[in-house]
Amino acid sequence: MAKYELLSKVESMLPSNAQIVESVFEGANMVLYSKNKSFVLNSSSLIRRIVNTVKKRVEVRPDPSILISPDSAKAIIEKEVPEEAGLQDVWFDDQRSIVILEADKPGLVIGHLGRVTKSIRSKTLWIPFVRRAPAIKSDLVKTIRYTIFSNSGYRRKFMHRIGQKIYGTPINKNNYWIRLSCLGGFREVGRSCSLLQTPHSRVLIDCGVNVASENRAYPHFEAPEFDVKALDAIIVSHAHLDHSALVPLLFKYGFKGPVYCSEPTRDIMTLLQLDYIDVNQREGKKLLFDSRDIKNMIKHTFCLSFDEVTDITNDVRLTLFNSGHVLGASMAHFNIGDGFHNMIYTGDFKFADTNMLSKASNVFQRLETLVMESTYGAKTDIPLSLKECEKTLISLINETISNGGKVLVPVLGAGRAQEIILIIEKAVRDKALKDVKVHVDGMVWDVSAIHTTYPEFMNRDVKNLVFRKDHNPFLAPCFKWVGSQKERVELINSKKPCVILATSGMLTGGSSVEYFRQLAENPVNRLIIVSYQGRGSLGRRLQAGERTIKMELHKGGVEVIKVRMGIETIEGFSGHSNRQELIDFVKYLQPRPKRVIVMHGESSKCLDLASSIHKLFRVETQAPRNLDTIRIR
Ligand SMILES: [Zn+2]
Ligand SMILES: [Zn+2]
Repeated sequence: MAKYELLSKVESMLPSNAQIVESVFEGANMVLYSKNKSFVLNSSSLIRRIVNTVKKRVEVRPDPSILISPDSAKAIIEKEVPEEAGLQDVWFDDQRSIVILEADKPGLVIGHLGRVTKSIRSKTLWIPFVRRAPAIKSDLVKTIRYTIFSNSGYRRKFMHRIGQKIYGTPINKNNYWIRLSCLGGFREVGRSCSLLQTPHSRVLIDCGVNVASENRAYPHFEAPEFDVKALDAIIVSHAHLDHSALVPLLFKYGFKGPVYCSEPTRDIMTLLQLDYIDVNQREGKKLLFDSRDIKNMIKHTFCLSFDEVTDITNDVRLTLFNSGHVLGASMAHFNIGDGFHNMIYTGDFKFADTNMLSKASNVFQRLETLVMESTYGAKTDIPLSLKECEKTLISLINETISNGGKVLVPVLGAGRAQEIILIIEKAVRDKALKDVKVHVDGMVWDVSAIHTTYPEFMNRDVKNLVFRKDHNPFLAPCFKWVGSQKERVELINSKKPCVILATSGMLTGGSSVEYFRQLAENPVNRLIIVSYQGRGSLGRRLQAGERTIKMELHKGGVEVIKVRMGIETIEGFSGHSNRQELIDFVKYLQPRPKRVIVMHGESSKCLDLASSIHKLFRVETQAPRNLDTIRIR
C-alpha cells in the first residue's frame, strides 16, 4: 500500500465517536489509542471486520490519559485474581497501556471464558497479558524485561518508524532481483553470517563468531556489499555464539534497526554474549563490545512466536518455525517480493525428536530456495541412536563413579546441557544411576532457568513435568548448582566421585577448562565429549589423541598437562541432524525446493551433502564459499 494508505483506510472505517488520539505502527501492526472508554471496551467485532479487510493486525488500546494509576490498578488486580492463581509479578507498560501478570497458574488468572481478565479490563482499562511465572527465577530474564519496560517510550517510537518504513514505499517489481551474500559459515562451522539483498532490502541472517579459531573468527565484514548502516534488519536463528555473538558489535558499529528472533533466543543469546565478554576479559583478550552494546541490542529486539507472519521490510515477510536444535531455535522462512520468491534458512536443525524438543518443521506454504546446514553431512557421519548414546553415557558414569572418579562433561550452555540433565534425571528416577551428585556449573544453571521460563517451547512431556512444580526435572535433588569460584575449588578438591556439567562445550574457555586442568592428570577421572568439537579446539585435539597439553597461565608462563584421564566421545547426542536426517528432511520437505544451498559444515561435508542431494532429488545444489554471492532470482 502507498504511504500511510493503510492508516487512513483503517481510520475511515471507524465510527465518528471513536475519539482516536493517535494511530501508530508497532512494526507491521497498527495500534489505535482511543479516549472513548466504551469504544475501547466494545469495539472487538468492528476491529475483527477491519482486520479481515486490511489483512493486517489492528488493535485498539486506551489512550494513557484515561487509564487509572498503576497503584490503583494493582489493588484492583490483586482483588480480582483468585489467591490460588499464585500471582507473582505485575508489570505496567504505561506507554502501551498494557499490564503483564505473571502467575503460577495462568489459567486461573484468565478465569472461565476470560471472566477475570475481562473484569480487570473493564475496571482498570489496562490491557492484561497473562503469562506463567518461571519455576526457576532468573535474574537475567528479569533484567532483560526491565530493560524493555524502562525503554517502552523509546520502543514505541522505534516500532512506529519501522512501520513507516514497511508501509512507506510500494514494491517496484520491474527488474526485481534477490541475492544472497556469504559472509561467514560457508564450507566451515562457525561465524555464520549471510546477507539477503533485494532492490529494497538488506537483511542480515545471523552474525556469529568462530570461537575455535583465531584468524578466521569473524564474518567478512570487509566485503563490499556489507554496510552496517544500510541494514534494514537482523534475524538471529538461535542463541549459539556461532550465530549470535557479534550482533551487539553491529550496534556498536552504528546499526539502528530491529533484531528479530524468538523469545528464548533473545534471553539465551544475551547470557552467552555476556559470558563471551567475560571469558575474553579473563583471558586478557581485547573486547570487541561491552554490556552497553548488549543492552542496546535488547532495546531493539523484537520477539516472534513460531508460525507468526511479520513484514520486516516493504518486500520481505518473515516467519520463524521450530528447528528442534536448542530452545527457541528457529528456521527462518522469507516471503520475498510479495510472493515472488520463498526461501528457508534452516540455521542449525534436528529432524528428529529429542528428549526435550520436537523435530524441525518440514511443511511450508511455499518454498523455492532452501539454505541448509550440513554439520554431519558426510556419508561417514552415522552416529549411534539416541537410545544407545544414553545407555553408553549412563554406563560410563556408573563405571567412573564406582572407581571413585569424577566425570567431566563439557557442554554448550544451551542445548546439550539440558538434554543431558533430562537424561540423567530420568536415569536417577529409573534407578539406572545410583547416588550420583551432578554439579551444574554457573551458566548451565542460568540457561536451565530460562528453559523453565519458556516451557511452551519444549515438547509436551517435558512441558508437563515443568508445570508440575514438584516434578520439575531441572530442580531434581540430584543436581547441585556451582555458583562461585570457591565452590569450584571445593568441588575439585573433594574426594567424592561426581558428575560435572560445565561450559564451554569445546574446552575453548570457561569453567570446563579449569575443571579439565585439575582433573586431567588423574586416570580415574573421565572426560565425556557429547557435542561438536570445532577445528583447533582443545576438545578436538584431545579427540585426535593429543595427550600433552600446554596451557598458558593467566599470570604468565605455561603449564604442561599430561592427560591421563579417560577420554570418550559419544556422537549422537547432537542437536544437529545426522546424515540420514538431513537427507530425510529434504525428502519430506513440502513443497520440494528448486534449489538447495548447503552451508554450516566443513568443506568436505558441504560438498558431499550437496552432491548427494543433487543425485537423490535432481534439484540444483550449491556449496558456496565465503565471499560468494548467489543470485537467487
Ligand atoms: Zn547451534
Ligand atoms: Zn551453528
